[in-house]
Amino acid sequence: MTDKDSDSKSAFRRLPSLDEVMRDPRATVLVGRLSRHDVQAFASSMIDAWRDEVRSGRLNETEIEARIASGALFEELELRVERELSRGVVRCVNATGVVLNTGLGRAPVHREVAEAMARAARSYCVLEVDRETNERNQRDDYLGDLLARATGAEAGIGVNNCAAAVLLMFQTFAGGREAIVSRGELVEIGGSFRVPDVMARANAKLVEVGTTNRTRIADYERALNERTGLLVKVHTSNFKLIGFVEDVPPRALAELGAAKRVVTGFDLGSGLLEIAGAKPLQPKLGDEPLVRDAVRSGVDVVCFSGDKLLGGPQAGLIVGKRAAIEALRKNPIYRALRLDKVTLAGLEKTLELMRDGRADEIPSRIMLNATAAELKPRAEAIARRLAAIVEGSVTVIAERSQPGSGAAPDIFLDTFCVAVDPRHGGATALALALRRSDPPVFTRIQDGRVLLDPRTLLEGDEDDLVRAFQELAGRADPATRRRTP
Ligand SMILES: *Cc1c(COP(=O)(O)O)cnc(C)c1O
Repeated sequence: MTDKDSDSKSAFRRLPSLDEVMRDPRATVLVGRLSRHDVQAFASSMIDAWRDEVRSGRLNETEIEARIASGALFEELELRVERELSRGVVRCVNATGVVLNTGLGRAPVHREVAEAMARAARSYCVLEVDRETNERNQRDDYLGDLLARATGAEAGIGVNNCAAAVLLMFQTFAGGREAIVSRGELVEIGGSFRVPDVMARANAKLVEVGTTNRTRIADYERALNERTGLLVKVHTSNFKLIGFVEDVPPRALAELGAAKRVVTGFDLGSGLLEIAGAKPLQPKLGDEPLVRDAVRSGVDVVCFSGDKLLGGPQAGLIVGKRAAIEALRKNPIYRALRLDKVTLAGLEKTLELMRDGRADEIPSRIMLNATAAELKPRAEAIARRLAAIVEGSVTVIAERSQPGSGAAPDIFLDTFCVAVDPRHGGATALALALRRSDPPVFTRIQDGRVLLDPRTLLEGDEDDLVRAFQELAGRADPATRRRTP
């Protein structure tokens, strides 16, 4: 036996046993917070990792003893338990200034919308039955009517998200047939949603026309044949072509479709609805197309998201001609994509707020409408509070926020941010520590500073944000460390 072998043998023997670890009072405390089974699984995987280190010669007996003495094992065990307890869809503070932040759940809904959703979830509800006759009906009859009224369309239907709406559109009208799309509109929209891939899965044969920067109606016309099921426009949402560019207006597409008896569709994505009497969003969002204009152009179906510029829960909404919407409803795939009662209740309430002249109360609309002049005093108030806590510089700077979710990609909204330049550790470490706070705080980093944009803060978020900084400051100085109750 070589020296090395006997060294590692004694190192293996010195590894803590699972039994030993689990009997330790420091583990017992953790078992009170998470199941014994889970704590044991974490402990076991940590011991395994140590064993691997011994096997590869990176850890010897002396080092194991030092580690055990330092309590590192239990510190890491506690960290793993804490991470496990903070997983999942938990509330967070969005200080990024990106209003429809997909990573943070896009549009936060109006309080009454959230209440309607909670009520529907908690109780039985009139979902798919007629109160008068007690017979089955369509779950989204009312939603369809509200959508039609809000957009000027004949009818409407709702599905799980806009990707589902686009899938349903392609499958219904071009499944086993051809769909004509401009090369300039074959886009990928965040999180792996690629128009050509969705078409392929909908069994629609893609016929590309035009070039990346220019497509004319004559291009569509030439590609039309007896196999064509759908002519489509896709709003390029998250990117913008500038310069020598020409695309086909939806009206021209609608006219061609009507003349040739081929269905026409427009995937708008972001779905900007202007509401009579409410503050308009359009000038701020540049030339982001309006749902109403898309409908008025005469295309058969228009798809858009419920949780982008509409400011409601996640959904895909399709409005348009009655016959086309009925065809979508009759497709068996609709059954796999349709909305649940909770989302339906939330969408109905969102559209009711708009109908009742209360669109300006919708949180994402408030955020998109907030002016730099309104945001400056909010940034200054946060900066004053942070200056008393943070070691390092805290300043208020002119900055720009973004609508997010691919809505108006070239548009930036003037804002004022609090810029924190930490004296110790750097901006990346500070941003990570803030994300680990309870509730987590998401920020953006720019030029070595952490930026906090008041545009996306909801009521009460300022306090949570300041508390997060207080706790971090406390962590550096154990004497003043605050503990969450
Ligand atoms: C965002 C977007 C989609 C996908 O919408 P989801 O609601 O996220 O599924 C589809 N098409 C366009 C043009 C979009 O902007």
